[in-house]
Amino acid sequence: MKWFNHIAIAAATAAVIAPPLVPIAILGATAPDWLERVHKALTGARLRHRGPTHYVIMWILGLFATLTLYDVHHIGAAFFYGGLTHVTADAFTVTGVPFSPLSDRRFHLFGGRIRTGNPEEYLVSGAIVIVCSIIAIATRHYADVSYAPFFFDYPEYYNNGLIDAAEWRQHRFKFF
Ligand SMILES: [Zn+2]
Repeated sequence: MKWFNHIAIAAATAAVIAPPLVPIAILGATAPDWLERVHKALTGARLRHRGPTHYVIMWILGLFATLTLYDVHHIGAAFFYGGLTHVTADAFTVTGVPFSPLSDRRFHLFGGRIRTGNPEEYLVSGAIVIVCSIIAIATRHYADVSYAPFFFDYPEYYNNGLIDAAEWRQHRFKFF
């Protein structure tokens, strides 16, 4: 998949979860490809494209480890999350990705029908961006980063003067 779409998918989904981490997620979303170049520069040896840097399991484990064991301000998690969106998106393509070092079989999602650079990949990333924008706006997540997405806090809005008393009465028993 093209970088444009990798970036769009990671940025849009990260914006719903944690807007300040979008740049890190973008860095991660392009990492499986640029890590191949870093490897070449450091060792002189060429890695197979969509080889070891695209192991799905590595990005899953990285995300899991940063979420559970150690991380600084979720920066590591955002990076691995971005990488995971990259290899997941690549799994939709004809070439697929390797799941782990233990198998040579290519991993595909939904039959791996998308050809890199074809209109479908722009359709998929476009749809994701639209859905994420709607969620982000609907949950007003941009107003407060620490705020749990999908849950409106009407009493808090009332106290902050965001809504008036009538609106608060109307929504006070709505919890999501
Ligand atoms: Zn890739």
